[in-house]
Amino acid sequence: MKDAYGRQIDYLRLSVTDLCNYRCQYCMPAGGIAKRPHGDILSVEECVEIAQAAVRCGVKKIRLTGGEPLVRRGILDICRGLRAIAGLEKLCLTTNGSLLPRLAKPLREAGVDRLNISLDTLRPERFAAMTRMGRLEDVLSGIRVAEEAGFSPLKLDTVLIGGFNGDEIGDFIHLTLDHPWEIRFIELMPMGPCAAWDKACFLPGETVPARYPDLEPTAAQGVARRFRLPGAKGTVGLISPLSHDFCGVCRRIRVTADGHLKGCLHSREEIPLRGLHGADLEEAIRQCAAHKPERHHLSDRPSDTPRNMNQIGG
Ligand code: SAM
Ligand code: SF4
Repeated sequence: MKDAYGRQIDYLRLSVTDLCNYRCQYCMPAGGIAKRPHGDILSVEECVEIAQAAVRCGVKKIRLTGGEPLVRRGILDICRGLRAIAGLEKLCLTTNGSLLPRLAKPLREAGVDRLNISLDTLRPERFAAMTRMGRLEDVLSGIRVAEEAGFSPLKLDTVLIGGFNGDEIGDFIHLTLDHPWEIRFIELMPMGPCAAWDKACFLPGETVPARYPDLEPTAAQGVARRFRLPGAKGTVGLISPLSHDFCGVCRRIRVTADGHLKGCLHSREEIPLRGLHGADLEEAIRQCAAHKPERHHLSDRPSDTPRNMNQIGG
């Protein structure tokens, strides 16, 4: 599928739940969100049917996300269903890592190719404060078990937050000396709970190479600029949706956990997919790709979407 600006659209992010076992301050309200009736969220069968239609339309890579995808009942059935789709080249999943000690091996066996694990701090007290209910040690064990299960190279996603983890950039970068990981620093996007945060919280990605001039540029991958410390086993990635608008190379469409298709994370426009099947479902997906907005407007104003990140899937 090509959109109106000539971009190839071949990457679907599929949110399988809006629930989460953490309450990261920038993502979720402190009290969490009201649990919706079961039927409001896409069923396992609907997730697989949408993915099949997307692959028929030209999608080659799917990332499962949420909320926290690993709290979703039936997550392994969803993975197995997606893995069985002929033509799907890559099945990836983004997780906060806390449930990987139990689920990394089953996820690998269910056919997941790649894992991204979110980790914003290496300090236990900060981790507990930011997630409001998480324990750093769970995520660190999750990383270990994921590697043992064969997920390598791992990507660790770190949202840069001024006044919170700006002083840990060096600690994260130094992890790449001994581990074949990609540590990816992501600019905080003004949406949901953090839309009104102080400007100082929104650290530009450029802070990373500016503070660590030893980082040598290496080949970019998708929307990530990449660097490596001399002799390091791993790499450092920079994802800068605000300061280095990467909309021009965006290949993504998204499906929310309640079955709405979005051409852009930050747009208000959505196409309801529930109840559509076969050719109608494919047509909706093609229409969404064709009308994908040219760019977001985060440099001028907060995100246009009224949804929080946990409802769309980061
Ligand atoms: N629960 C899983 C996790 O945390 O990896 C998957 C869903 S979470 C919404 C996906 C990613 O979005 C996480 O890496 C999270 O840190 C990131 N995220 C959430 N809100 C964000 C924001 N306002 N700006 C940038 N990244 C954000
Ligand atoms: Fe949950 Fe991920 Fe949002 Fe944190 S960022 S509250 S782990 S969905």
